Amino acid sequence: MKKQYYSNPFFDRDIENRRVSSTISANDVLIISFQHKFYFFQEKERKKLALFPLELFNQISINSSFLGVQKDKKIWTAELTETNVKSVSEILKGGRFYDIRDLADQLANEQAALLAYALGINKWHQITRFCGVCGTDTKSWENGHSRKCKKPECSKVFYPQISPAIIVLIEYRPKKGKPLCLLNKRKIDSGYMCSTFAGFVEIGESLEDAVAREMKEEVNVDVINLCYVDSQPWSFSSSLMMGFVAEVAHTIFEVDGEEIKDAAWFSAKEIDQLVLKNELILSKPDSIARFLIETWVANNLN
Ligand SMILES: [Zn+2]
Repeated sequence: MKKQYYSNPFFDRDIENRRVSSTISANDVLIISFQHKFYFFQEKERKKLALFPLELFNQISINSSFLGVQKDKKIWTAELTETNVKSVSEILKGGRFYDIRDLADQLANEQAALLAYALGINKWHQITRFCGVCGTDTKSWENGHSRKCKKPECSKVFYPQISPAIIVLIEYRPKKGKPLCLLNKRKIDSGYMCSTFAGFVEIGESLEDAVAREMKEEVNVDVINLCYVDSQPWSFSSSLMMGFVAEVAHTIFEVDGEEIKDAAWFSAKEIDQLVLKNELILSKPDSIARFLIETWVANNLN
């Protein structure tokens, strides 16, 4: 199966050693972000992710997090503040900060996955600055893989958290005729933007419960069969997307009018032709939503 964009099971996270303090060596490199954008140099026609020697940043106080090892280099990341950026302005000549999703079509899967990992860690540090038990400041701990309350009597340790979410392609398979899929659609100048349905899993819910509830809420359908397809890390909302195909028994649906304004049934052939004519724009190519739709179309064209 195709590996989802932003996932890289082959990256060496060096689990055994990552929480162990070590002295910085010439092989330690730093990926920097600022306002959740990452620093790239412009090299002729292409943009190249800047891997700065970590030592270069000794002059400013940053808490970097260890990500893993790639080609014998230890890779770290840090989110810079505005003051940090001013202090290292000489180092930052010749490039600029880019949003990963704006570069998605230019980045190899491995690089996009590394940056999504870094983004998730950096964002988590920003929102976990205070202890949820006593309100005291926390400090980066275990090379950035946890944060610890600074108050000695508390010393609560916090670990990065992700929010599970389900993303669902709804299908109807009639006894006679072509299978259909229900897509969320939004009018744009050239036609429609179309996507699958999604929502966060709530406390006390299984994935199956969440799919059934969200599909009922958004388009008022009852799921009769559910098939897990694949998952995708989604650091942009500190989430993990779990993709499903859900079957329903008939084509009657009703949009909630809030989260979902409009939806429609399509055959695989209709989607294929409308996309070719540019009248139907699918979710961005880096998303599992796009993968779910394209896989369904490929499996149901004939
Ligand atoms: Zn505390």
